[in-house]
Amino acid sequence: MTRIVFRGGQVFDGTGSAPVRADVAVENGVFTDVGSDLRGDQVVDVTGRTLLPGMFDCHVHILGVEMAVKSRLNEPFSYQFYNAKRNLERTLACGITTIRDCAGADLGVKRALEDGLIPGPRLLISVTALSQTGGHMDGWTPSSLWVDPYYVAHPGRPSSICDGVDGVRKAARQSLRAGADFLKVLATHSGGASYLRTRFSREELNAIGDEARTSQVGFAVHAYGSQAVKDSVAAGATTIEHVRDLDDEAIAAMREADTALVPTIAPLLKYLGDDRPDEPERDRLGHQGDPNNSKTEFAREAYDSVRRAHGAGVRIAMGTDYGNDAGQNLDELTALVAAGLTPAETLVAATSGSARAVGLHDELGTIEPGKRADVVVVDGDIFDFSKLKQNIESVHMDGRLVHSRTR
Ligand SMILES: [Zn+2]
Repeated sequence: MTRIVFRGGQVFDGTGSAPVRADVAVENGVFTDVGSDLRGDQVVDVTGRTLLPGMFDCHVHILGVEMAVKSRLNEPFSYQFYNAKRNLERTLACGITTIRDCAGADLGVKRALEDGLIPGPRLLISVTALSQTGGHMDGWTPSSLWVDPYYVAHPGRPSSICDGVDGVRKAARQSLRAGADFLKVLATHSGGASYLRTRFSREELNAIGDEARTSQVGFAVHAYGSQAVKDSVAAGATTIEHVRDLDDEAIAAMREADTALVPTIAPLLKYLGDDRPDEPERDRLGHQGDPNNSKTEFAREAYDSVRRAHGAGVRIAMGTDYGNDAGQNLDELTALVAAGLTPAETLVAATSGSARAVGLHDELGTIEPGKRADVVVVDGDIFDFSKLKQNIESVHMDGRLVHSRTR
């Protein structure tokens, strides 16, 4: 068995402790030693570099989606899977070695990664995102034409529109049958006019939570608005996706249940400055658009909610909601700092915090003996997030080199 030693670097172990000088030994894809003067069969000289645990993005749509409807209508069906290859590679180059796809990727994409047909991070999939009639995944338009807003159903990705306790149970089971590692639920609509009005009932959320518990999988809930967050947490949500305006009760409920928040606020960062004119929501399909929705107001409320949730002790996990923006995922680190996390807290969110949020904390998220050897080698200041991506020298997964700056 080959023993690889990363020698001479600093180690940020993912717990939040300051980086310390240490060598790191890897055998069989697992960390076996962290200490000084370690010997190995193969030595990687990382003098002057810093090692980070492989990072997470807990909310991606790796198949991408064309936001412009005309482009979407003209994209051949199978193009999404080839598109995923590019997005996966770009994500890996960010030092992200584990991603959670919150709708789109199916079991074939996951299997192709596991079998090494395509390079990329390890992938957790929800396959689809359960949505109520009139909800975020409902492709109805006022013309009476149906245009799927994101991902058209196919044999490996069942339809996600479901209503009523029996209906949502069946849809949850269909997702699990199709290979879902966790259930993703759109408890509310998205940013449009009806984002607070259209949502699952408590009974429906409780039924989905029950399916998640029975199958021992995660339960990720897209929930805008405090009532939806409280209902979702009561139903057993393990993560709340996105954020807009959280009240103190919702924050307290999340903290008590240890429900993690995946803010996905990088796309809103540009609206925080005073120098940028406000923009209405982009026109979307059918009932999905709201030209009066202010992006600036949305951004301010979202950042304020993250600041208060973090201050109250809610676990924060890293997620971007990126599809074709893959490669810019580390923008979320800058965004989390803008929302009040320290740089060290931000890297904890992207490593051990995310590992815990998605239930992989026994295997991943920190550099310590017994964990899988996902390592990012950084040449430069690990807390300078604007330059972090360009400073990544190499990325290793399970001890294997999977990305190198020079290659
Ligand atoms: Zn999403």
